Amino acid sequence: MSVEVREWSSEAIELYLEGFPLSLLNAIRRYSMAKVPTYAIDEVTIVVNTSAMFDEMLSHRLAMIPLRSEESINKLLSVDVALCEKCSLDSEEKPSKDVCDKCFINMFLEAEAHDEEVTVYSDEIKSEDPYVKPVYGNIPIVILAPGQQISLELRARIGRGLEHAKWSPATVAITRNVAEIKIDKDLCNLCGKCVEICPKKVLNIDGGVIKVERVTDCIVCKQCVVICPTKAIDVVNLEDKNILRVESSGALEPETIIRLSLELLRRDLASLQDFIEKVKRGVKS
Ligand code: SF4
Ligand code: SF4
Repeated sequence: MSVEVREWSSEAIELYLEGFPLSLLNAIRRYSMAKVPTYAIDEVTIVVNTSAMFDEMLSHRLAMIPLRSEESINKLLSVDVALCEKCSLDSEEKPSKDVCDKCFINMFLEAEAHDEEVTVYSDEIKSEDPYVKPVYGNIPIVILAPGQQISLELRARIGRGLEHAKWSPATVAITRNVAEIKIDKDLCNLCGKCVEICPKKVLNIDGGVIKVERVTDCIVCKQCVVICPTKAIDVVNLEDKNILRVESSGALEPETIIRLSLELLRRDLASLQDFIEKVKRGVKS
């Protein structure tokens, strides 16, 4: 098994992995999207809204603003998110107040246009937790005409992408096979059609032969195979070589998203193992 870093930045991580089952990488991908918790605005109390935007639209725009949650990882992992989610459901068994207090952060947004039109941006949201605030301050929320005003009380809640995409810390989480490109030199007449059509510029003619420049960039679209007049080229997926790519909304670092998805997957597997052990003990006794 081996791992090679293709990209590692505050926006994205891309890994080249050999020998890891695709099902495991797919689980990491799905946990990144659906199970890693973050904060997002979930309740909006409209005190005043004389803008042209409907209350519902305003609330939706606020909900979709990614909130920085990196500095609150311990809190994110210490609450039972499944319990927090009941707050948004029509459930009789609502969590107790002390559970809710751990889960919510109060925020406020007040703005008014006097003589000129004003655009209200995300950096005007005031949070009672200095660490949990909009990732980007330049997200436009609403335009106020002269004389218009908004005054909103907001509550940000811990949640998961499983419930709503606004909580997903990963904007992109993909796995894909690495390709193997086979070229039969005896059949190839160097017409260059495959080079021309390749959307990822993977192929090149160099020294009288077709060369594969960056096989990991190949997206296995097989356009080169289709256009080849002599059937000299073939592209297949390699089952044990894969790319895992995770891009962040900014709520969590990409490295944190992968680390937490592994931690949550490990927890789920451990509880499944516990359950099986208990059943086994029960059958024996
Ligand atoms: S399969 Fe698509 S991306 Fe890959 S080499 Fe052929 S044309 Fe290029
Ligand atoms: S399209 Fe086929 S024949 Fe033409 S250069 Fe590519 S591999 Fe060779």
